[in-house]
Amino acid sequence: MKRITERTADSKTHPSMEKSALSQNLAHQNLMQIHLRRSEKDKIEPVLSPLEELKKTVWNKSACSGCRACISICPADALAYDLGRNHPYQVLPCVDCMACLDSCPRMPANNQNFIPSQVLGHYKVIQNARSKMKHKHFQNGGAVTGLLAAALEEELIDCALVMARDSWSQEPQPRVVYNAKDLDKCTGSKYTNNAILEPINDIAKGARSIALVGTPCSVQAVGLIRKSSNEFAAKIAQKVRFVVGLFCFEAYDNSLISEVSRLIGMPPWRFDKMNMSEGKMDIRLRDGSHRVIPLQDLAGHAKPGCKGCADFTAKLSDISAGSIGSAPGMTTIIVRTVEGLGLFNIAEEMGFLEVADGVNVEAIKKAGQLKLAKNGI
Ligand SMILES: Cc1cc2nc3c(=O)[nH]c(=O)nc-3n(C[C@H](O)[C@H](O)[C@H](O)COP(=O)(O)OP(=O)(O)OC[C@H]3O[C@@H](n4cnc5c(N)ncnc54)[C@H](O)[C@@H]3O)c2cc1C
Ligand code: SF4
Ligand code: SF4
Ligand code: SF4
Repeated sequence: MKRITERTADSKTHPSMEKSALSQNLAHQNLMQIHLRRSEKDKIEPVLSPLEELKKTVWNKSACSGCRACISICPADALAYDLGRNHPYQVLPCVDCMACLDSCPRMPANNQNFIPSQVLGHYKVIQNARSKMKHKHFQNGGAVTGLLAAALEEELIDCALVMARDSWSQEPQPRVVYNAKDLDKCTGSKYTNNAILEPINDIAKGARSIALVGTPCSVQAVGLIRKSSNEFAAKIAQKVRFVVGLFCFEAYDNSLISEVSRLIGMPPWRFDKMNMSEGKMDIRLRDGSHRVIPLQDLAGHAKPGCKGCADFTAKLSDISAGSIGSAPGMTTIIVRTVEGLGLFNIAEEMGFLEVADGVNVEAIKKAGQLKLAKNGI
């Protein structure tokens, strides 16, 4: 499987560079032929090259959400992510296939799809839910883990793409999970990385059906990939069976963990759980004690691309999940699609989830509107 390609702009060893020159040349020639066929057929004649377009419209405007859809979908491995500048950059020649433009949620033409008419978006059911599995690291009620466990145990999917974390550095890392018991190691919210899509192209090659969890920007990218007629997008889209979206007010760049560590005077390996809620970051330490930091003290570490974000509830997901609107120990669940409802019902019927009514919908709308106001939308 391709290694995660997060690296800084001065890195010299992009994984693709490890391929032999011959195989790279052949791959490049094949891709050029594909591109020519597409160009002849579709007569696409962009004014700028795709990468110039992305650079001008997204990267240089600090609008990149960091979702990595463009990196994963690129058939030429042309892109890697610059953690310092919070956007991708070019590492290998581009073959102008346009897949990155099709999948980028921050391209203005794509962004039109997400203009907020309402915070909640389309839905079928809104309920509280909690996992019946016992685990101390669920972020809220563990309903997201319960849904994924049901999908894996009932063999509705081959694998789930989730966000794990290195318990020493607290660094989040996308992980593919094939057994429900391995979901235990990947529970909880990771506030510094929304790169869940980075490995999806490689995973899609081997899997028949995938469930993934993502922040609204990643969910938007999957929505675009599902809609695109691009052949590289289609190869991924046909494998994604369930998309679980997390509510998201804001996320942080890589400097967050060291800043939190500095502010509370504790090394990252003492952290047990981080929870962002009601204007505060609560850090539970391994000894059970808590430290609290006002979010305004962390404002300088928010990802620049989050400042233009209009989606709070992941409106393009099959099922959305968040903490706001439900009682402590429960997860708020918004079921949006027929497929999402199928999974939600199976998870309840098979005993993975306990479900209750009584979500405070107004609280969700209020938080979503606050996000829009904060971002000047
Ligand atoms: C950056 C961020 C901001 C959030 N902001 C809000 C908010 O403002 N208001 C609100 O109500 N809820 C917010 N949430 C959602 C909330 O924190 C919980 O994730 C949600 O309620 C689900 O809880 P749970 O107990 O069911 O999840 P769990 O059962 O603990 O499972 C969480 C799942 O999410 C995956 N995951 C964690 N972080 C990421 C990530 N960054 N990208 C992709 N997958 C991930 C985990 O791998 C796991 O599979 C946010 C989440 C994130 C990641
Ligand atoms: S996805 Fe296609 S257009 Fe975009 S960088 Fe890769 S090869 Fe170029
Ligand atoms: S928003 Fe996502 S797809 Fe668009 S440039 Fe940034 S990482 Fe790539
Ligand atoms: S605020 Fe928006 S751009 Fe930032 S991580 Fe959340 S969904 Fe993505």
